[in-house]
Amino acid sequence: MTDNRLLVASVASQTSRPLSSMETPGRVRKGGREDSPTNSPAREALALPVAIVGGGPTGMSLALALARYGIQVEIFDARSREEHRREKRVLALSHGSRQILDWLGVWNSIDTTPITTIHVSQQGGFGRTRITAAAEGLAALGYVAAASSVITALDSAVQRAGLVYREQTRVENVEVKDAAVNILTTAGNCEAALVAYAEGSVGEGAGIRTRNYSQHAVTCLAATDEPHNNQAWERFTAHGPVALLPYGAQWAVVLTCQSNTADTIAALDDAAFVDLLQKQFGQRMRFISVGPRTVFPLGLRYRRSTIGPRQVWLGNAAQTLHPVAGQGFNLALRDIRQLANSLANASDAGDATVLVRHAQSRRIDRRVTIGTTDTLVRLFSNDNPILRHVRGAGLLALDLIPPARSFLARRMMFGARAFP
Ligand SMILES: Cc1cc2nc3c(=O)[nH]c(=O)nc-3n(C[C@H](O)[C@H](O)[C@H](O)COP(=O)(O)OP(=O)(O)OC[C@H]3O[C@@H](n4cnc5c(N)ncnc54)[C@H](O)[C@@H]3O)c2cc1C
Repeated sequence: MTDNRLLVASVASQTSRPLSSMETPGRVRKGGREDSPTNSPAREALALPVAIVGGGPTGMSLALALARYGIQVEIFDARSREEHRREKRVLALSHGSRQILDWLGVWNSIDTTPITTIHVSQQGGFGRTRITAAAEGLAALGYVAAASSVITALDSAVQRAGLVYREQTRVENVEVKDAAVNILTTAGNCEAALVAYAEGSVGEGAGIRTRNYSQHAVTCLAATDEPHNNQAWERFTAHGPVALLPYGAQWAVVLTCQSNTADTIAALDDAAFVDLLQKQFGQRMRFISVGPRTVFPLGLRYRRSTIGPRQVWLGNAAQTLHPVAGQGFNLALRDIRQLANSLANASDAGDATVLVRHAQSRRIDRRVTIGTTDTLVRLFSNDNPILRHVRGAGLLALDLIPPARSFLARRMMFGARAFP
């Protein structure tokens, strides 16, 4: 959805009830409050404090986080829950995300493979570094999980908590008024104090920043003749980074390539794709099989500001990042944890002061995560010989200076909490 749905400030109010008690077309409403919020005192608590647009991993995590503080929410998603569970991508989750997912009560329901070592190198150049969990005093640097496993665990927790999830219900418009927001959906309308957008894309309009890297990701599972020993590999090539993540007994492959070659690469037969992977990784390992390939377009899109009047943007709706550092959902979880904290004691979830304070508290982590991801893609995805030496020197320095390596590892694991 784009920004033109926003700020229809003078629209006549419709109802002050949550969708759980709203009228749906062709259905007679049997109960619920009838009073209009414009007739009610502005400070009166609204029936629905927070409406969440989008029931993907971000929307469901937010719902569970707010529910932990007793804040009532409703989730609206255009797709069916079943469709969500078919999600193909594999996610690397940081140690910090594990802590948040644990707090949400879902961690133990997610199938995960720990990463104990990350090996970073560049094709055709010197310099490499290894980051290990042991050096950080942790059991694992991060974990690899199928997005479908994360989504299933979150969805089950949403159901257990009795939270309202309106599947196949598209939010078509949002009207922001002084004391409330009107949410217009394909199933009827409702009113909330705050609308949280977790709709998975940044959209268009003023205040949106974009960068086109002309890159796509081709993902698949692969097997090698030796076990992975919980080691992840990040290899930078002139066409973009290639990541190998330990996933069960296999590897999850994220191969970045130029956009105009993605379909051809994805369509290679298995033997040719194995050859391609072998060329990227040399003799470090021997690939023996690969699974079906999936293609994702990549780029950077983000909102300069993640808040507006009675509105907040989270997850891919706030920033869609290149997966080079595996930070998209990890950053979303850190934002969600902080937002839940900010709203815990707010009498009005849409209060501007609360939202501004939230955005300020997340500014550094967000900027650094977006900036680091963008720099990594641009610095490493080219064949410039000078930059190749700069990259090599950087990787060598990281390898030789343990505190720098440790700082990088902690940043990936904890976001802004890594800063002293
Ligand atoms: C190849 C690849 C690898 C990645 N690897 C990692 C990784 O290793 N680690 C990591 O942290 N992140 C990773 N990411 C990023 C991560 O996948 C995303 O950050 C995350 O999936 C975004 O979830 P979301 O809930 O914000 O959006 P989505 O999952 O897109 O959910 C948005 C939902 O909103 C719904 N919706 C949209 N519009 C409306 C509307 N108007 N009304 C109602 N519903 C609506 C949609 O139906 C959808 O279900 C990767 C991404 C890619 C592409």
